Amino acid sequence: MSKVKAKKHLGQHFLIDESIAQKTAEALQFKGYQKVLEIGPGMGVLTQFLLRKEEVETYVVEIDKESVVYLQEHYPVLKERIIEGDFLKLDLQAYFKESFAVVGNFPYNISSQILFKTIENRAFIPEFAGMFQKEVAERAAAKHGNKTYGVLSVLVQAYYDVEYLFTVHENVFNPPPKVKSGVMRMVRKEEPLGCDDQLFKTIVKAGFNQRRKTIRNSLKGLGIPDSLKEHKFLTLRPEQLSVQDFVELTKLFEKERS
Ligand code: SAH
Repeated sequence: MSKVKAKKHLGQHFLIDESIAQKTAEALQFKGYQKVLEIGPGMGVLTQFLLRKEEVETYVVEIDKESVVYLQEHYPVLKERIIEGDFLKLDLQAYFKESFAVVGNFPYNISSQILFKTIENRAFIPEFAGMFQKEVAERAAAKHGNKTYGVLSVLVQAYYDVEYLFTVHENVFNPPPKVKSGVMRMVRKEEPLGCDDQLFKTIVKAGFNQRRKTIRNSLKGLGIPDSLKEHKFLTLRPEQLSVQDFVELTKLFEKERS
């Protein structure tokens, strides 16, 4: 059977370097769970290495019919664990009653949405690893004070320890993408955030709305409590606040509201 023809609108860039596929699959540590969901397996270059782990049950979700047919023919062991559909619309709890990891050489056009869906479903996702465009992987792992540190960094790192693992050159893909790629790993933090999740998200998003302005300026619309008006956080720009600082800031807002 012939190979899948790459479709641009689905973000298809097939990895042709098997050793990178193996390294990406092996970024997962498989501690405390036995299922893994690969997003966008394409022709299975990464899937084949997941399937070598006998103790692990591999599921894949693929939106492209042609790739699904290819996988059915080449990886019959996957059988009904090939889910044809859009990861972003997938009801994860209908498939997974227990913890599972998420992995992939992801479709780059939906990178942030994949990360946000993972955060929302963090109760079931102890580990996440895979390839994004380099800039997104870097942003997810960026620490405060860094130029790329932003909403994505704070929201991801509130719930996961993130590690940027290695950079991948464009020429190991067919067709080559325009940008470099980066492989990263996220391991869920087991301690709770310590503040209201919803308010935290609101404050982080508002805080970064205007990067160059102080927190005081950006959070005006949320109604800054009087007791907080002299707080040093308010004089800083959002990229100067660590994840923990945003948690503290949220707690201060909470205290005033209760
Ligand atoms: N993992 C393969 C393919 C990477 S290209 C490899 O490394 O070669 C990205 C893959 O994601 C494509 O197969 C594409 O069809 C699939 N994809 C794109 N959008 C998707 C979505 N919303 N849900 C699931 N899969 C998707």
